[in-house]
Amino acid sequence: MTDNKIKKSINGLSVDVEDYFHVSNFEHMVSFDQWEEFELRVEKNTLRVLELFAKHKATATFFILGWVAERLPDLVKEISKQGHEVASHGYRHRLVYNLTPDEFKSDLLKTNDILSGLTGKKVLGFRAPSYSITDKNLWALDVLKECGFLYDSSIFPIHHHRYGIPDFPRYKTEVALKDGSSITEFPISTLRLGSKNFPIGGGAYARLLPWWFLKFGYNRINKVEQKPFVFYFHPWEIDANQPRMECSAFTRLRHYGGLSRFASKLDKMLSAFQFTSIKNL
Ligand SMILES: [Zn+2]
Repeated sequence: MTDNKIKKSINGLSVDVEDYFHVSNFEHMVSFDQWEEFELRVEKNTLRVLELFAKHKATATFFILGWVAERLPDLVKEISKQGHEVASHGYRHRLVYNLTPDEFKSDLLKTNDILSGLTGKKVLGFRAPSYSITDKNLWALDVLKECGFLYDSSIFPIHHHRYGIPDFPRYKTEVALKDGSSITEFPISTLRLGSKNFPIGGGAYARLLPWWFLKFGYNRINKVEQKPFVFYFHPWEIDANQPRMECSAFTRLRHYGGLSRFASKLDKMLSAFQFTSIKNL
């Protein structure tokens, strides 16, 4: 690590560990019962991600789907062994606002049992599938606390047809809970442009936007706002050869756009900025 890197802000790095057929964009085409029929590519892709992080001495939080952890226990152990944080992405990628509090709770506890059984460590953090904690279901934060979580990283402070709380704080914040306690929220990072928050914290945006623009945004967060940014991506986003699903042109752009260039973009990002896990933030 260079001195230059030490002086820089430390940002949050996160990976949502799921496969290409788990994503919400395809859930109307691929039912849970069909998951077993698909080729698992997440192991190979996650090992590539681990290599990339090791090259840059970057530590991250891996929000792992319980279903994936059950099938790839050695992968979960390897992530933990390499010093990364193992956290929860729920068991079967169900959108939290479509669940009852009891259904959410049992999904969380089932996943925690699998993950902590493999790592021997308590699961401290949660990321909702498709950022599905919005102002309609903030009760989810109370359930997380009840299940022993210390933090959540599911709220995207943007306008989106499926998720987002546009006026939510853009940085780490304590959210008051019904029992009088609180839970820490790490929102996904946005760039403030005029009166709007622009999503630059990961996903299709990070794949499709040019590197110079992303770098401008991250530098602005670190240097002007003097805050860390929280970045996320998925192992399937570096897999340009993944099987193609039949979908609309819009979904094609959102899921397949920029896949072939994303690994080299990540490499540039990991060279330019310093990262750690969300727990360490
Ligand atoms: Zn997901």
